[in-house]
Amino acid sequence: MKTVVKRSYDVIVIGAGASGMTAAIAALEEAQIHDGTADRGSVLLLESNDRVGKKILATGNGKCNFTHEKIGGTHYHTDDRSVLEAVISGFPTEAALDFFARLGMLSREKNGYFYPLPETASTVLEVLRLRLSELGCEISCGVSVEGIEKKSGGFQICFAEGGKNRLVYADSVILATGSRAGGFLQSKNADPLGPAKCLGLRSTALYPSLTRCICLEDFYYRQLAGVRSHVRLKLYEENRAAGRKFLRQEEGELQLTKEGISGIVVFQLSGEIACMLSEKKRAIVEINFLPEFLEGELSGWIEKRLSLLPGRCLKDFFLGVLHKKVLDVCLQAEGLKGTQEIPCENRRKSFQMVSSVMERALHFTTEVTGVSDMRQAQVCRGGLILSQFDTKLECRTLAGCFACGEVLNVDGECGGYNLHFAWGSGLLAGREAMKRALKNRRGRGNDGRK
Ligand SMILES: Cc1cc2nc3c(=O)[nH]c(=O)nc-3n(C[C@H](O)[C@H](O)[C@H](O)COP(=O)(O)OP(=O)(O)OC[C@H]3O[C@@H](n4cnc5c(N)ncnc54)[C@H](O)[C@@H]3O)c2cc1C
Repeated sequence: MKTVVKRSYDVIVIGAGASGMTAAIAALEEAQIHDGTADRGSVLLLESNDRVGKKILATGNGKCNFTHEKIGGTHYHTDDRSVLEAVISGFPTEAALDFFARLGMLSREKNGYFYPLPETASTVLEVLRLRLSELGCEISCGVSVEGIEKKSGGFQICFAEGGKNRLVYADSVILATGSRAGGFLQSKNADPLGPAKCLGLRSTALYPSLTRCICLEDFYYRQLAGVRSHVRLKLYEENRAAGRKFLRQEEGELQLTKEGISGIVVFQLSGEIACMLSEKKRAIVEINFLPEFLEGELSGWIEKRLSLLPGRCLKDFFLGVLHKKVLDVCLQAEGLKGTQEIPCENRRKSFQMVSSVMERALHFTTEVTGVSDMRQAQVCRGGLILSQFDTKLECRTLAGCFACGEVLNVDGECGGYNLHFAWGSGLLAGREAMKRALKNRRGRGNDGRK
């Protein structure tokens, strides 16, 4: 742990995750542009963990899916679309690729998802650390910011270091404290929203997002655990008076766990489901295990297959169509057995039998009763209300206070959107925070420190 050297800085960044590290880089680069020399801007990066960027190492299953080819506001959830669009439109996919290329990191694209060329998340962390060191950024780890106060011309920040309380000052402060999602925040004292609360900023309720869902019929899921299947998922809200209201659908690989459902298709719906459950709404998910089948062609398909495979029992009739475990559960739900013969002498009965199993596989309906907790989630839905900030991510009521990354009420879909927002908002907040600090410096009529 490095101790904090000075008493005052141009910019102090609280939190050295993806957004805080990029914010610190941008702030120092901005100072270079203005002052023409590398040593003019001073930035302090404070991190409560024992080292910087821990969460980055876990991203993309250790490969770090750091951006997506189709970045756009519709892939995010927030309270202020216009601020979000301003941030995102100023930082398209190419800007993220250029930023990392400038730091020396090349990338590889797979189905629209971008990864570092060596496909290791540590590469992303290392290029950021290297750039911070080249720019002479002062970093202090193991430091949880506990208090922050607005003073005339800047901010006073309070934290414990080596058992002693320390006070430091900055013209601009950047809140980049992220969230508890993923369980990477080691220090129990470090509250991601703590510093913002000290400044009187408002936040929304917090929910885990991009996470697994727990379903009601656990006796089915215990049998289905381990199955991976390409499905279409539809999310409905159900209530007694209005019945079922369709909300949205996703298609992709579903993973069945012993308690419920997981995989990217589920992650994409999980934030919305978490909000619904907290509002005591019923979340119904319909799984279509055979999304290739068109409803209108189902009868014809069944008739044809009955003619093609006469005399087979149910288990053998569906061999080659459905995963064995999925079939077992569908049969069970219909009160049928796999060894049961399809009565080919009675066409109507055999059709009914087969079609009931097909209908079950196409509309396997389940109620979601919970989502995994924040430590298992990839991101947090909710945070500092975005409308408190302007399009430069400066607090509208507190000049010099900026925020970026996941601490804000912005969360994206799976696919590189969250890190993209962390880089884009971090760079913007860093640049603007340094501009504000340099302006203050000029206003004080000196070119040096306070
Ligand atoms: C397992 C996992 C996999 C993921 N995979 C991907 C992926 O492939 N692609 C993608 O786009 N996104 C992914 N994400 C999401 C992405 O990692 C986050 O959205 C992003 O890292 C957020 O960055 P941040 O800097 O805003 O916040 P954080 O990474 O949470 O960083 C905030 C930092 O602030 C520190 N801090 C908090 N409070 C204080 C305090 N009071 N004082 C001092 N320091 C403090 C924390 O210790 C932390 O280091 C994944 C997340 C997880 C958990």
